[in-house]
Amino acid sequence: MPMDQVREAILSGDRTEATYAGIPLPESYRAATVHKDEATMFEGVPSKEKDPRRSLHIDDVPVPELAPNEALVAVMASAINYNTVWTSIFEPVSTFGFLERYGRLSVFAKRHDLPYHVVGSDLAGVILRTGAAVNLWKPGEEVVAHCLSVELEHHDGHDDTMMDPEQRIWGFETNFGGLAELAIVKANQLMTKPAHLSWEEAASPGLVNSTAYRQLISKNGAAMKLGDRVLIWGASGGLGSYATQMALAGGGEPICVVSSPDKADICRAMGAEMVIDRRAEDYHFWNDEGTQQNPKEWQRLGKRIRELTGGHDVDIVFEHPGRETFGASVYVARKGGTIATCASTSGYMHEYDNRYLWMNLKRIVSSHFANYREAWQANSLIDRGLIHPTLSKVYSLDDVGQAALDVHNNAHQGKVGVLTLAPREGLGVSNPDKRARFESQINRFRAT
Ligand code: NAP
Repeated sequence: MPMDQVREAILSGDRTEATYAGIPLPESYRAATVHKDEATMFEGVPSKEKDPRRSLHIDDVPVPELAPNEALVAVMASAINYNTVWTSIFEPVSTFGFLERYGRLSVFAKRHDLPYHVVGSDLAGVILRTGAAVNLWKPGEEVVAHCLSVELEHHDGHDDTMMDPEQRIWGFETNFGGLAELAIVKANQLMTKPAHLSWEEAASPGLVNSTAYRQLISKNGAAMKLGDRVLIWGASGGLGSYATQMALAGGGEPICVVSSPDKADICRAMGAEMVIDRRAEDYHFWNDEGTQQNPKEWQRLGKRIRELTGGHDVDIVFEHPGRETFGASVYVARKGGTIATCASTSGYMHEYDNRYLWMNLKRIVSSHFANYREAWQANSLIDRGLIHPTLSKVYSLDDVGQAALDVHNNAHQGKVGVLTLAPREGLGVSNPDKRARFESQINRFRAT
């Protein structure tokens, strides 16, 4: 079986180009999919009761033809991102609409418009094939992939590639994602796998680490500087666990918001000193019906922040919960401060008191994933041991539905990994000396 041959070659440690180029391609591969004919299966079901275990399938799907600018990667491990939760509960819209629209773009884009969607926006693995136009990368190279898919035909995309009109998130707005034994990515999504990490550790930071980098550090986001105080919602979650590390590594001071003592401990283990347990504080930013906000509760949060900081407001709010917290976020930012937002987990129709924004010269900055350069910088932080993976739990591909359910239920810490071709955890470390230097930091989120 060619897939066994692929796995064996990778496990043998042989990375010669000829070995991989010589392995015959399988006709099909195992992949986590959602099905187009099930896109209405949860109609009328409340969001929280929509169960990804029902909608995510493991199917044998055909290996697609490779476009000239692409690479076919043998995926050893992947990770769950919240976008796979959105896809699997068909919210806020079914992702098949994205695939249909993309399919109208070109002959190669047409491949993506299928009755199934192979999901997943992270991977670590080995390149099996490259398209005829790919020069920088070769079969046999160990890689991770970021999830920005761009066409770059239009001039708008050539300053900041996130501005490309044909910008998509791979494995969410495109097909052939990373939660599978094989994946197709554009060559300009490839980055070198950090040698001190196992496959599943290397696969876990990609999407959230890059997003946090642009949102918090990049000049395209909040452009955090030395000494900035940063309020980080969900500080032990996917995005937040990287934002917290970046705030600390960049000379800022994170004020971490979490919802349990365990999560607070994780933040302290990362080095944060100021932590707020939002559940223990029992904030009610909205009334029970969710129709009216309660500014007194914003003030209570602001007071708590000042208690922790010795009387200071925050320079930056790292926002993603959305509707639930946005009014409070705008309120607690200091005069001239920045609210950087990349998401709306609790609802996208935000409401805030604009007087606090304009009278205090605050600004709201929108941020979405990252361009290739930003993703490369973020991966380089991992590679140099300045930022570490936050993997807490690893599932097999067969259990991908449960893995997504954990994230949907907010029952996880940091990142949840998925083994695809890797037969077990812990494989893929090719620089054990470098790993030994960072072992304890890499394991901070395990067994939590
Ligand atoms: P995650 O791992 O689930 O972490 C999010 C954390 O936010 C949770 O752990 C939770 O922490 C906190 N949270 C959730 N609901 C909340 C609420 N109502 N009020 C306050 N805090 C709340 O997810 P993630 O990977 O960090 O992603 C978070 C969001 O960002 C998702 O909507 C995702 O789709 C989006 N996202 C967007 C981009 C982009 O490029 N635009 C990239 C990545 C993610 P506590 O319970 O501990 O407070």
